[in-house]
Amino acid sequence: MNGIPTSSIREGGSIHLVNPADETVIRELAHSTLAEVDDAILHAVSAQKAWAALPPAERAAGLRRFAAAVAGAVEELALLEVMNSGHPIAQARWEAGHVRDVLTYYSAAPERMIGKTIPVDGGIDVTFLEPLGVVGVIVPWNFPMTIAAWGFAPALAAGNAVVLKPAEWTPLTAIRLAELALEAGLPEGLFQTLPGRGDVVGERFVTNENVRKVVFTGSTATGKKVMAGCAHQVKAVTLELGGKSANVVFADSDLEKAAATAPYAVFENAGQDCCARSRILVERSVFDRFMELLEPAVKGVTVGDLYDESTEMGPLVAKAHFDKVASYVPDDSQVAFRGSAPAGPGFWFPPTVLLPGSRTDRVVTDEIFGPVVSVLPFDDESDAIALANDSVYGLSGSIWTRDIGRALRVSRGIESGNLSVNSHSSVRYSTPFGGFKQSGLGRELGPDAASAFTETKNVFISTD
Ligand code: NAD
Repeated sequence: MNGIPTSSIREGGSIHLVNPADETVIRELAHSTLAEVDDAILHAVSAQKAWAALPPAERAAGLRRFAAAVAGAVEELALLEVMNSGHPIAQARWEAGHVRDVLTYYSAAPERMIGKTIPVDGGIDVTFLEPLGVVGVIVPWNFPMTIAAWGFAPALAAGNAVVLKPAEWTPLTAIRLAELALEAGLPEGLFQTLPGRGDVVGERFVTNENVRKVVFTGSTATGKKVMAGCAHQVKAVTLELGGKSANVVFADSDLEKAAATAPYAVFENAGQDCCARSRILVERSVFDRFMELLEPAVKGVTVGDLYDESTEMGPLVAKAHFDKVASYVPDDSQVAFRGSAPAGPGFWFPPTVLLPGSRTDRVVTDEIFGPVVSVLPFDDESDAIALANDSVYGLSGSIWTRDIGRALRVSRGIESGNLSVNSHSSVRYSTPFGGFKQSGLGRELGPDAASAFTETKNVFISTD
């Protein structure tokens, strides 16, 4: 079931994939049907048993070959992402390289799934980390390759099979990754991509009893549905959901650096980034100075030709999403300034900086998921923490200060899974990533992610 289904009459329907940069149709892609999903899952069940029975060193070698196949296809994957998702080429190359790196990192895991020996009365007690079976990975359209890899690489490393559902608009790199796994010699059926609708393919991952865990990345609204669905079978679930992260700038910080880098913390990937610092909170005493410094930085963001290595921002992913983002900026009443963007065709939206009328305005509370940032003043440290935490989300954030004590106090005070001090770094494959509050449940990446795809089995051995 790897690759693109070809039959013409399909209950799953089909989709015209559109290049977001120029609105041309790339291709028509058939969606997977329920029967195809169920077949693929059955296929995965048998492939997983054979995979888990292999010596760990052989599974590790298989993942290293998969990583090498991705390394050889970085340019091809990057070009697919440029065309399908509207990512600038330099960013798309980074994403494909990140998939290679995530696979390389987790290729060490099969030989490090280490249980424990526990001293007990009358014998010894040992624990085994058993694979779960088939894992369903559901991904959004904003980072189609990288987010898929965060799920499939540790899941495969722990001895599981994976069925992957890409987002409807952006399936092409996920389809190619499953082909690369086969080309690298991973067993047929072990890693399958099933393009299709969320309410068909995604829901089937939730309801099919042979899928033992669902890793869902997407909106908080859909994540709640997935979690409720998984509850019926007490099925394990990891959720990576929305965000409305704060970039907190204190008066004692390197203000020039904070302002120069703030655009990249929110406009990267055209703001379609769960970690986007889409609320900039600035200490009142330096607010005006910060805005003066921010304006040229925002106007300097290069938006346009996706094949130019220096381009920093592309279009929004689709017309429906463009309309949603535009609805948050109906007129200029809150606009402080804007960067530039091509006129079209394509779903181009300029980097936009807002000065909201209040802390409860919907541009401050909602995840807009576009290149729109709100800047708000705060009075002191406790006000900054309270304002940063005034959100249902808690995914990411930045703190700018030269005072190490303050950096630590504010880091501990903000309810968020991923913070950076004097930087906007969010993601490293070797460190855990995930959200507080309605930004999610569980952690991906880092040294513990593979064991999140196992059950601990405890065995007592009598010495009597
Ligand atoms: P979405 O929730 O609309 O869709 C995500 C995926 O779920 C898609 O593949 C979709 O087809 C599928 N889906 C839809 N309905 C489903 C259902 N009933 N059952 C199962 N699957 C279903 O999200 P989106 O618009 O594609 O992505 C944007 C959202 O993703 C934003 O909120 C963003 O913050 C979030 N996101 C979070 C992270 C993170 O790591 N926390 C990373 C990237 C994106």
